[in-house]
Amino acid sequence: MARIVMKFGGTSVANLERIHNVARHVKREVEAGHEVAVVVSAMSGKTNELVSWVQDTPKANGANSPFYDAREYDTVVASGEQVTSGLVAIALQSMGINARSWQGWQIPIRTDNSHGAARIMEIDGTEIIKRMGEGQVAVIAGFQGIGPDNRIATLGRGGSDTSAVAIAASVKADRCDIYTDVDGVYTTDPRIVPQARRMKKVSFEEMLEMASLGSKVLQVRSVELAMVFKVRTFVRSSFEDPDAPGMGDLLNPPGTLICDEEEIVEQEVVTGIAFAKDEAQISLRRLSDRPGVSAAIFGPLAEAHINVDMIVQNISEDGSKTDMTFTVPYGDVQKAIKVLEDNKEKIGFDVVQSESGLAKVSVIGIGMRSHAGVAALAFKALAEKSINIKAITTSEIKISILIDGAYSELAVRTLHSAYGLDKS
Ligand code: ADP
Ligand code: ASP
Ligand code: MG
Repeated sequence: MARIVMKFGGTSVANLERIHNVARHVKREVEAGHEVAVVVSAMSGKTNELVSWVQDTPKANGANSPFYDAREYDTVVASGEQVTSGLVAIALQSMGINARSWQGWQIPIRTDNSHGAARIMEIDGTEIIKRMGEGQVAVIAGFQGIGPDNRIATLGRGGSDTSAVAIAASVKADRCDIYTDVDGVYTTDPRIVPQARRMKKVSFEEMLEMASLGSKVLQVRSVELAMVFKVRTFVRSSFEDPDAPGMGDLLNPPGTLICDEEEIVEQEVVTGIAFAKDEAQISLRRLSDRPGVSAAIFGPLAEAHINVDMIVQNISEDGSKTDMTFTVPYGDVQKAIKVLEDNKEKIGFDVVQSESGLAKVSVIGIGMRSHAGVAALAFKALAEKSINIKAITTSEIKISILIDGAYSELAVRTLHSAYGLDKS
């Protein structure tokens, strides 16, 4: 007997038929004698709809600013998961399985106070463990917990993955299965590159890079938790026949295992290509070149919770003025420009310029640590397709390249084949 946490994403619970299919996956594990907790997302498209309602309400009521209260945002957007937790519990009960739904506050899943992007601080698994021991399936609403202010807090988009891994850690599950609409983690998004290959295993570190550089198959925080708490996490498909051969395999279920580097026997130099669209670039022109200028720029941006990514500073020609360019998510451009203008005196620059519609394409692989020339290959491949590079950043295990967004898919396909990742 094992203890398994099964998480189902939005497309997996998109309608009542899909929910029936989810219940069949759960039934298979229950009938095999396992203790099961289920974590569910909202039906696909639901969270987007709820978010847009929240965003549109202030203006529809005469406000000039799009401001809304983050606590009320959480109250609204967490409701999608409440619906599916109840529906999945009912589906299971209809199939003769003892099941009960749980909202974040009922467990409780305690978070910090960052409404809209809260972090899980603590989960009390006692009651869930007790119920599972009595043969009851816990169906838990993902994406939500309760903050120190005693109010519902959501975990940021894609947060149900994090709920699942955190619950798996707190109940000491043997496995956490993330069921989604693809049958594992691929070398790049299989919807963009049909030649992408499914990986049997991928290391925590590489998955962390892929997720943070744009592969939305797992939320970044879920990978961090899986790595820290050593949760055996599989990404697998809910769309396969729940009773197909091998689906109930305890040690080697179909899908991709996220695991320690040591568990991977044949390590490639490059394992995957990630990309993020909707990047924007901000440039400060004729910036005074003196100690403390970076702190003067990035301090206020950090305080405004703006995520700055690639930073490029030119060498000053005359020792007094320079240019500084950096990227921010497209949605933060206006806010960032306002922060910079507000601090113009302190920073000391002439003009601030911005460009939207950029994309960041990244090449990831642990094998890069011990191989030279990995980046040069990317530059050559992109040059052959006449794709202009606007900025580059590298780390031990990744290279990120900023390009015009119109070329993002061509760049991903080009790099994918340049590094020999296409399936034969
Ligand atoms: P869910 O609703 O189940 O949480 P998501 O849409 O959040 O599903 O994540 C699954 C999607 O992630 C896939 O449909 C796929 O398009 C995308 N994706 C991006 N990069 C990858 C990758 N490297 N491997 C697999 N899927 C990826
Ligand atoms: N429903 C939430 C979202 O769309 C959480 C999730 O699906 O993981 O972001
Ligand atoms: Mg997701």
